[in-house]
Amino acid sequence: MHTRIEWDQVIVGLGESGHAAACHLAAAGHRVAVMDTRSQPPRADALQARHPDVPVITGDLDDRLLASAAEIVLSPGVDPRHPALRAAQGRGQPIIGEIELFARAVTAPVIAITGSNGKTTVTRMVAAMAEQAGIDVAAGGNLGPAALTLLARHPRAELFVLELSSFQLETTVSLQPRVAAVLNLSPDHLDRYDDMTAYAAAKARVYRHADQAVINADDPWVRDMAGDGAAVHWFGDTAVPASAWRIGQHNAGTWLMAGATPVMPRADLALPGRHNALNALAALAIGDAAGLDRDAMVTALGAFRSLPHRTEPLGWRDGRQWVNDSKATNVASTIAAIRGMEAPLVLIAGGDGKGQSFAALGAALAGTGRAAVVFGRDAAALAEALAGHVSVTAVSDLDAALQAARRLSRPGDVILLSPACASLDQFIDYRARGEHFRRRVEAMPHD
Ligand code: ADP
Repeated sequence: MHTRIEWDQVIVGLGESGHAAACHLAAAGHRVAVMDTRSQPPRADALQARHPDVPVITGDLDDRLLASAAEIVLSPGVDPRHPALRAAQGRGQPIIGEIELFARAVTAPVIAITGSNGKTTVTRMVAAMAEQAGIDVAAGGNLGPAALTLLARHPRAELFVLELSSFQLETTVSLQPRVAAVLNLSPDHLDRYDDMTAYAAAKARVYRHADQAVINADDPWVRDMAGDGAAVHWFGDTAVPASAWRIGQHNAGTWLMAGATPVMPRADLALPGRHNALNALAALAIGDAAGLDRDAMVTALGAFRSLPHRTEPLGWRDGRQWVNDSKATNVASTIAAIRGMEAPLVLIAGGDGKGQSFAALGAALAGTGRAAVVFGRDAAALAEALAGHVSVTAVSDLDAALQAARRLSRPGDVILLSPACASLDQFIDYRARGEHFRRRVEAMPHD
């Protein structure tokens, strides 16, 4: 098929990043059109108000329109294996993403952070450190605001800190991060990737063209990603080189260390769990590689508190301690949250498992788990994986799960919502799930 090029870019998907891409390109005078499979794309009105001349075409992806684009800008939520996109690939059309547009436009240094878990936490930690060091810093990306929105809002920022997902990295070719980090890798999004190797390859792209690579020495997937030409900075807890950022002993206490140098007592970090100590180490390694002042980094980390929906304490009700970890959307993140809790706990988990195996959850609960309550689309698969390790109750939804958890727990217990699953079968997103949980907990009488 030979089609005349009519559009500089056709944007596929009108969510936050598609909207940011459309505004960025239209403002620069590009001829752009937008497609979305939803009949009412979330940002259609906002785009029409700002750029009424940009057409928004809804319904299944239009092959002819795609074929008439010099470039296709794909949103991270759209699966590139869609037949119309496969056809575009077959025609040799470039398929890029919003981060690629950002990379072409940005002039200030960029720190790029990816991984299966901890991305948002570490991105926020690094941004707080840079701010404490007096740098005009803008942080966003996958966690929002979209990278191009950041660029429009902070044209004079001295540093951008971006959280990037594997989907965003797949469509990015020319990003040259000052510092790049893959925090860890565990099974996730296997409904979008053929296997772990394909998922790891998408994550590893962050290191291409990076000046400095921060690498998790404990993680067998990440250890082997050390890129060509980048200076390497290791962090980790067990199998680490002597010079790595690591957890160590000093003056009879546990410290975050830079090689043999104690930098910050572990106890000065308010966040629970070993996973958060590792997140802090990663943030220190990234900040150090970017040249941030060490005292400023330590001050910022000491003041850092749990982010909403990430092992977030909701307080005591009915003699139980309630914790909202709705952001735990895969097995590894739920295991990290379980390990971070000290009291006996009742786990609430469930939703859409995205094709992952729940097998490892049972062993993680075997120590502190008093019971588990499972709900949502993959409740039966979860129940099967947990049976034999802990007593399991299956219910239909989160409200019923909360009631069951209350019944099964004892005073002094932790009741932890850490679903190990995406929320999309019953909620708009993990935030809506966490807010729902919070409202229900807060409606109980105070202790
Ligand atoms: P992401 O942005 O990668 O989803 P977040 O910082 O939002 O990561 O944390 C999401 C959840 O992942 C948390 O609620 C916690 O349960 C878990 N988590 C955070 N950091 C880690 C880590 N380093 N390793 C494993 N799990 C983690």
